[in-house]
Amino acid sequence: MTRPYNFSAGPAAIPEEVLAQAAAELLDWHGSGMSVMEMSHRGKEFISIYEAAEADLRELLAVPPDYRILFLQGGGIGENAIVPLNLSRGGAVDFVLTGSWSQKSQKEARKYADVAIAATSEADHFTSIPDAATWQLRDGASYVHICSNETINGTEFQTLPDLKALGSDAPLVIDFSSHVASRPVDWSKVGLAFGGAQKNLGPAGLTLVVVRDDLIGHALPACPSAFDYQLVAENDSMFNTPPTYAIYIAGLVFQWLKRQKETTDKGDLAGIAAIEARNIAKAKLLYDFIDGSDFYVNRVARDARSRMNIPFQLRDESRNDAFLAGARARGLLQLKGHKSVGGMRASIYNAMTIAGVQALVDYLKEFEREHA
Ligand SMILES: *Cc1c(COP(=O)(O)O)cnc(C)c1O
Repeated sequence: MTRPYNFSAGPAAIPEEVLAQAAAELLDWHGSGMSVMEMSHRGKEFISIYEAAEADLRELLAVPPDYRILFLQGGGIGENAIVPLNLSRGGAVDFVLTGSWSQKSQKEARKYADVAIAATSEADHFTSIPDAATWQLRDGASYVHICSNETINGTEFQTLPDLKALGSDAPLVIDFSSHVASRPVDWSKVGLAFGGAQKNLGPAGLTLVVVRDDLIGHALPACPSAFDYQLVAENDSMFNTPPTYAIYIAGLVFQWLKRQKETTDKGDLAGIAAIEARNIAKAKLLYDFIDGSDFYVNRVARDARSRMNIPFQLRDESRNDAFLAGARARGLLQLKGHKSVGGMRASIYNAMTIAGVQALVDYLKEFEREHA
């Protein structure tokens, strides 16, 4: 039996191979007589799981040696406070607003830092990304924050801004929750990246932080110890009990990612390059269909469109409920859009297959034929 296709924005689909492996190992991990959930985080079994997960992620994302990989809790929303507590030094931080998540992040940071908005696309309802050449960056800012993929609004930075080229010495902080591991990261432009795991890496409860060494060790005195990057880094993410089962599942996802292969006109690709090629093909399949239809519409500027989260509307919104009911009946789950944008949203993270996107396009065609 094939499972339904799950278009949830998060918590989101996990590769079926990973779920099957986790199920097979649930009661007894590798002959240890224990479930991973039951192991000491300081025992040799879990340490081996942790070390493999970290090494695999470092290899997949090509994280340079002078960056630390931290496994935390608290989610992306937790990091909205934890990042300014660690990096702001109580001083100036600049935000670029491109949607709901960057908006939320700047509100939280105001509790700890002197926040200014360097640029915003709010005037066009967050359907575009402001040209970096127009950003108002302050001298001496502790960092500049962007959300590199806006999950709700469906915008994505196609390339990360080069702050040095814009005349700023500030490190760039990216919230990459909803497109981490969907494409390579140019670390030469990034000081810190954070993301919740539940979109593209694994289960909720695990938060990934990748941070350059020189940005560690400057936490404000009020920063909780469990969220002080220096203490977390010194203790290999075991200052307190980490989310062990979520790290284990993410580790299986990393192994799955390493196994991915695609043959393209650029040659044979593996790992993140393979998954990126597949993500490009999936997004193109869906956008091309929507753009060619008078029945559906995506209102995001073409040069700012996300490969991961594709909001779209029926031009006749009175058909929304019928659309969703028909989708569910065909095994196309969780397509309802976020209430702030309305309509539909297809989240097509790494675990979504081309076949799943094709099944959605086939349904879009069928529904249009029946209702146009
Ligand atoms: C989902 C999401 C978050 C929120 O993460 P929580 O785990 O709910 O705290 C933050 N930022 C972005 C871009 C997201 O997509």
